[in-house]
Amino acid sequence: GSVMEKVLQRRSLRMRNMQRAWQESPEGKKMLDFRKSLPAFREKEKLLQAIARNQVVVVSGETGCGKTTQLPQYILESEIESGRGAFCSIICTQPRRISAMSVSERVSTERGEPLGESVGYKVRLEGMKGKNTHLLFCTSGILLRRLLSDRNLNGITHVFVDEIHERGMNEDFLLIVLKDLLPRRRDLRLILMSATLNAELFSNFFGGAPTIHIPGFTYPVRAHFLEDVLERTGYKLTSFNQIDDYGQEKMWKTQKQLVPRKRKNKITALVEDALTKSSFENYSSGVRDSLSCWTPDCMGFNLIEAVLCHICRKERPGAVLVFMTGWEDISCLRDQIRAHPLLGDPNRVLLLTCHGSMATSEQRRGRAGRVQPGECYHLYPSCVYGAFSEYQLPELLRTPLNSLCLQIKSLQVGSIGEFLSAALQPPEPLAVQNAVDFLKMIGALDEKENLTNLGEYLSMLPVDPKLGKMLIMGTIFRCFDPILTIVAGLSVKDPFLLPQDKKDLAGTAKSRFSAKDYSDHMALVRAYEGWKDAEREGSAYEYCWRNFLSAQTLQAIHSLRKQFSFILKDAGLLDADANTNNRLSHNQSLVRAIICSGLFPGIASVVPRETSMSFKTMDDGQVLLYANSVNARYQTIPYPWLVFGEKVKVNTVFIRDSTGISDSILILFGGTLSRGAMAEHLKMLEGYIDFFMDPSLAECYWKLKEEFDKLLQK
Ligand code: ADP
Ligand code: MG
Repeated sequence: GSVMEKVLQRRSLRMRNMQRAWQESPEGKKMLDFRKSLPAFREKEKLLQAIARNQVVVVSGETGCGKTTQLPQYILESEIESGRGAFCSIICTQPRRISAMSVSERVSTERGEPLGESVGYKVRLEGMKGKNTHLLFCTSGILLRRLLSDRNLNGITHVFVDEIHERGMNEDFLLIVLKDLLPRRRDLRLILMSATLNAELFSNFFGGAPTIHIPGFTYPVRAHFLEDVLERTGYKLTSFNQIDDYGQEKMWKTQKQLVPRKRKNKITALVEDALTKSSFENYSSGVRDSLSCWTPDCMGFNLIEAVLCHICRKERPGAVLVFMTGWEDISCLRDQIRAHPLLGDPNRVLLLTCHGSMATSEQRRGRAGRVQPGECYHLYPSCVYGAFSEYQLPELLRTPLNSLCLQIKSLQVGSIGEFLSAALQPPEPLAVQNAVDFLKMIGALDEKENLTNLGEYLSMLPVDPKLGKMLIMGTIFRCFDPILTIVAGLSVKDPFLLPQDKKDLAGTAKSRFSAKDYSDHMALVRAYEGWKDAEREGSAYEYCWRNFLSAQTLQAIHSLRKQFSFILKDAGLLDADANTNNRLSHNQSLVRAIICSGLFPGIASVVPRETSMSFKTMDDGQVLLYANSVNARYQTIPYPWLVFGEKVKVNTVFIRDSTGISDSILILFGGTLSRGAMAEHLKMLEGYIDFFMDPSLAECYWKLKEEFDKLLQK
């Protein structure tokens, strides 16, 4: 003890010397001057005092006032200055990887140090920290994961949970766990940071914790909505009721099993899509009529162009930010603007495009008005803005609770229902029950709601549990690579692009990857493999262009693949030899079977008709295939079933990516795989096996039985 104490004291003195030397250097002084100009600085003493005197403090202040970069740094500096630097350990969570990384870099620059010295970061599978790191920026997911193994956060002195106003699932979840931890760790300090004024909710949650607001320095921003914009550019808005209806329907469906994946993006899209033509078509036929003087194909872009012209002519000089849904839209608009007589004139307009770490839309307007007053043009009607703010439901209330429930189980914090009822805003008990039932159905929880071995593995995988199961099945059945690509693809987004004006060409390009597979999932595998080959040959760009593929998405799939393999290897589920893991990858029926095992109960029956087919699911009756599905291009599909991962309801229910499967696959690999029911199921199947089995599947069947027994054994 006392030897350690001495070591730490000595190190603390060294830290103080280094800090002082930097602060007295010319660069350090300059940096300090800048930092002193931030609004947070005026509250510094007040903040330090509040944190010293209270276990929990809630801090609010506008974006840019200095919460993230300054507050944790104030603590670090004051600890170092008081000679206790080496004794403190500060964690500050960020909702996104990119912010954890960039903020830590900024703070180490402000401290005149390389990253990984006193300031570091840790995000999933990546990090930069050393033995001298006392301020760590990490994702909220990382802190949660740490709490799995270190329930008391031993050695941590301060925890900052940042961006709590976003109400991300991890943040909400952290608050429950931390609230539970605080009485056990009286010395631990918790600081919650929010960019909006809703501090009260959080303060109440922590029994009336003090709140401190950092007064901002922002300038007024005037908001204009589509109706004003249209009027100014000479058009009138009629009705937008349909957007409202659409919104309500979506809201209503929340947590009712539909729209399962990436709900966040979809809800955002409701608003952001209003910038593009497709949304006008989808959301409001009324508007299309009154705007018919614009060619439907590029109405959205023309509208933006009209607004930009208006700004260039009428407003004072300055910068204009245009937010778009994705890189494709950005580059399209860029090309259109370049060709414009006024906007394309490089002497008048400097056109810059950027993409990547764009923040969420609650911050759009926040981007304007940081340095001067401004205007914000929302290219959607004001009624949507109202509806949109209602969408800012906490993620916990918007997400299928499957992954969350798994995490709760692996945290060993008791019953799922009880734990969630302690949340800031608890989800509906019915939704929780659905999730628990689902997890039982896929075999992640046993009848008593205990985590099975499979469930334990699934909780390690940062994907939807059913995709996680598909991955594990892919390893067991030795067809790892294709399944890995499919799971990575389903957890990022579709790399196949569908430009509005080239739908048919894009569809044809995609179907070239499908041969006679009748599978979007296999088309994805081929597209990815083709891209890898093209990359090796240095022709990835042409490859993507020719095949309507998003290089960026493929890149994301590529890096997710790496992450998943790493985790699986770490968990001992992968053989060291890649060939062994892929011994059966060429077996198409098997790959189909594994897809089915993951996506069940997403099953549609294929009903042949005279010249076409129709599709039915148990819950929805008749459904349609997405236009970009390879299966939508066939007149007949020689499989009785399609297995799919996602359905979306617009007016009709559409199923997205699908794969044709046989009866025997459905019987063997679809269905209940919980321990008890699985045994029953297998017993029944043994009787049928000679009838149904395709010989290559017979081997798999026995393997399935064997491996599942092993996996589910406690
Ligand atoms: P908040 O968390 O309150 O939104 P930050 O602490 O992130 O604010 O940023 C405070 C200020 O620090 C910003 O307004 C900006 O001026 C400056 N700043 C932040 N990050 C950087 C950076 N990477 N480079 C230069 N300045 C930065
Ligand atoms: Mg911040």
